[in-house]
Amino acid sequence: MNDSYLNFVNSPFGARLASSLGLPKPEVLRRYRADRPEFEGLIAVGAGPQPRMLEALAGMIARTGMTGVAHESAGLWIPLAQRHGMLTGRFEPVASGARGASGSAQGRMSALLFDASGIEDTTQFDTLYAFFHDALRSLDKCGRIVVFGRPPEVCATTRQWTAQRALEGFTRSLGKEARRGITSNLIHVAPGAEALAEATLRFFLSPRSAYVSGQVVRIETVTHALPVFDWKQPLAGRRALVTGAARGIGASIAEVLSAEGAQVIGVDIPSAKEVLDRTMRALNGTALAFDIAAPETPAQLAAALDENGVDIIVHNAGITKDKTIAKMTAAAWHSVIDINLAAQERIDDTLLEAGTLRHGGRIIGVSSISGIAGNRGQSNYATSKAGVIGRVQSMAPHLLERHITINAVAPGFIETQMTAKIPLAIREAGRRMNSMSQGGQPVDVAQTIAWLAHPASAGVTGQVVRVCGQSLLGA
Ligand code: NAD
Repeated sequence: MNDSYLNFVNSPFGARLASSLGLPKPEVLRRYRADRPEFEGLIAVGAGPQPRMLEALAGMIARTGMTGVAHESAGLWIPLAQRHGMLTGRFEPVASGARGASGSAQGRMSALLFDASGIEDTTQFDTLYAFFHDALRSLDKCGRIVVFGRPPEVCATTRQWTAQRALEGFTRSLGKEARRGITSNLIHVAPGAEALAEATLRFFLSPRSAYVSGQVVRIETVTHALPVFDWKQPLAGRRALVTGAARGIGASIAEVLSAEGAQVIGVDIPSAKEVLDRTMRALNGTALAFDIAAPETPAQLAAALDENGVDIIVHNAGITKDKTIAKMTAAAWHSVIDINLAAQERIDDTLLEAGTLRHGGRIIGVSSISGIAGNRGQSNYATSKAGVIGRVQSMAPHLLERHITINAVAPGFIETQMTAKIPLAIREAGRRMNSMSQGGQPVDVAQTIAWLAHPASAGVTGQVVRVCGQSLLGA
């Protein structure tokens, strides 16, 4: 779908008009393109006392091919970077209003990365302040802010818990201040899980996370070794089942998973068969015209997936039937709960029981910020989407033994046929009420799902990641 305001204010005439009238100018977000380098430029690295992540981060950043330059708070960085064969140097801030030459340590930064994992109490916040005070102005448009901390619940003292929890407010505020298409996210890494943060760091540094900001992701330790994979085709050899794959977000999920190497099996209602067939044919995938809510569907899916099973299940199919509760028919209530939530439960129960979802598999549910914040006229939809979050949280511990992760994405306003039905004034408000001042694209949800489906995302489970451009709703 088209955001004509964004297109207009990014045209030469529109940009001049918007600036003279003081209108907001949403940035054209930089998104992943296979024909452009995914990682490039300089990362400024800062750190608090006793940084526990720096050693692992040096290897990870070296593998992206980026250059990490050290802020004075991260003295350890230069020898670590050199040990990993990375070009490095000292970070020098851009003076107020000045624009440094790109490619020099005095130039614009692609990302700012701060290791706060060793911060033990609030008296140690000074380096956090100093780093971002010095460096934020140097961050380029569509740049990335990533802060590393410890999950507060595992902290040894109440002071440490308090300080680590405080990082959430800090990171989210930077997302709101920075604007210009910049994202800001916090990664909590459990002690011992440092080496498992790589897929998550890459996602948050990459243009793939263009519409994901203000999020906190936890990386847990795992007891098993990661399978062998290639960063360029991480899903090669894996089968992925995607529901609601004919159009919108589902079609984009199918495309992205396929581009990452997965063999995709797309499901959609029989009336969408022609479109589904076309979408799947383009991906060399398999089309299954099933209504996910039909009682026979779980068994039919298990049979269609045969003894080869499946590695990734994406529960994307969903509907809305909006009315305030007093005006809502029982049929509208039941169909939304059944398609958006109960059908997922029945399908997962069957595929898990039959062992169709393989060891080390991934389940990803598509929730909504409506399920977090609630929404007028959406009591049925918000109930179903909050239930998706409940499923993820309740099932994650039970699936650990089979090395299966389960997570949800919660999209905000995404430009699809579903949101095109919203009345204009509400649609325009939904689009602008976030740090990016624009709606997201289906591919933003799809890329987030691909990261959760990644074999190296084994330490991420039981979590909900919003793909909402840091929407104000439910924040
Ligand atoms: P869409 O209406 O464009 O696509 C949904 C797809 O699901 C369609 O192809 C439809 O035929 C299929 N589907 C519906 N019922 C089905 C059933 N019973 N069996 C099989 N397939 C069925 O919607 P979309 O915007 O692409 O949304 C995809 C998902 O993202 C939904 O779960 C939706 O709730 C969620 N979501 C969307 C937004 C947004 O802004 N678009 C925001 C939050 C969450």
